Amino acid sequence: MIHKAQERIYLDYAATTPAAPEVVEAMLPWFAERFGNPLSVHALGQEAKRAIESARGRVAAFLGASSDEIVFTASGTESDNFALKGVVAAMADRGNHVITSTIEHHAVLETCRHLEDNGVLVTYLQVDDKGRIDPEDVRKAITDETVLISIMHANNEIGTIQPVTEIGTIAREYGIPFHTDAVQTVGHLPTRVDELGVDLLSASAHKFHGPKGAGFLYIRKGTRIEPLLHGGEQEKRRRASTHNVPAIVGLGKAIELASRDMVVEAQRITALRNRLIDGLLARDEGASLNGDRNRRLPNNVNICFDGTAAEALVVSLDMKGICCSAGSACTSITVEPSHVLMAIGVERAQAYGALRLSLGRGTTEAEIDRVLDILPGIVKRLRTS
Ligand code: PLP
Repeated sequence: MIHKAQERIYLDYAATTPAAPEVVEAMLPWFAERFGNPLSVHALGQEAKRAIESARGRVAAFLGASSDEIVFTASGTESDNFALKGVVAAMADRGNHVITSTIEHHAVLETCRHLEDNGVLVTYLQVDDKGRIDPEDVRKAITDETVLISIMHANNEIGTIQPVTEIGTIAREYGIPFHTDAVQTVGHLPTRVDELGVDLLSASAHKFHGPKGAGFLYIRKGTRIEPLLHGGEQEKRRRASTHNVPAIVGLGKAIELASRDMVVEAQRITALRNRLIDGLLARDEGASLNGDRNRRLPNNVNICFDGTAAEALVVSLDMKGICCSAGSACTSITVEPSHVLMAIGVERAQAYGALRLSLGRGTTEAEIDRVLDILPGIVKRLRTS
């Protein structure tokens, strides 16, 4: 059970999830009581090492990988940086071209910009109006210089699930390492690495009821990669830094809970998601769904409300105790329309009215019905004000 803030309806699970009580309980002893450094030879160190290796084993089993293919990191962002910068550096003797998409998370896009600043060529593939990549476009973009393909598993804004398996088949045909940012899918959808056909996969614990500040990168055996952090011998020299033992233990527990609950939970959430989408579209003529109706994350609803500003919607909903996100990122000076909505061809004016509601483990039918009661009225009021 997830503890809920009183009366508050949380529909921002794509931004972060609460740590499950079992996760918090599993983490607690590792702060003060069992505080050893896993690199220490004594008993306290060795018990911390065993705890980390047990978490690693759970992650590996979840992905259908082996333990030595999992490197713990501090976040999804770090995992993405590690995958891109690490492979590009290690493969510099083979070429300097990377293929990605226009709708990746900034953790990938900004890393690509950094690589470009350092002389790497990056191809940003366009997506269709539902946010899908055509695998054949990946094939066409491959050159003799291509050293990495990085395409996300599912989009964090519009929820579109990419044809990762098909892209993986193409990558393998050409012998090019294939990375996927699976931050929005690990713990929610099947992510067996052999079925996806990926060589590298990023994940972040706080998106599946684990703690913040913990993630991992799966690296298929034989993949050439340079570390981001140099120093101690942790993670077989692939990621120096004293281990965050409580966070890694929490990540392991969260994966264990996901293995148990994921399939049933995905079905339950999908039904609630459809109820919310259908209800909002039926109640407001100016509402339109962004992304693919079916090939989308079980928990993602992203809707443009014509003639509104999503920021105002978010604030009005917050005043009613409903937490969600605007579809456009707020910068310090201006509100920029989301790069994802621009990429799928949404009009600029419409994109400002995009709202993302993301469901999760604590979401109930009663909550969805309350949102359906409240939101259309707020939209109408804002349109006429
Ligand atoms: N990639 C995707 C698709 C995400 O949704 C996020 C977080 O929103 C990240 C990467 C970054 O993960 P973290 O918050 O762990 O740095």
